[in-house]
Amino acid sequence: MSELREKHKSIIEGYYYACCPHCKTTLVHGKNGTDTFIKCSKCGNFLHVEIKDDTVLVERKNS
Ligand SMILES: [Zn+2]
Repeated sequence: MSELREKHKSIIEGYYYACCPHCKTTLVHGKNGTDTFIKCSKCGNFLHVEIKDDTVLVERKNS
């Protein structure tokens, strides 16, 4: 299981960005409560992105 938790400063008030843990591509910008799946456009990894309590969690989903 690959899991990455990062603390980020918000770039726009209340919004945080999630980066691919593999290639560091910015995946999505969201706010607390965000819970989404996204495929990295660069390396093709399928990732689960969750933002809560000012923490960005990116978890890799293996098929
Ligand atoms: Zn990637």
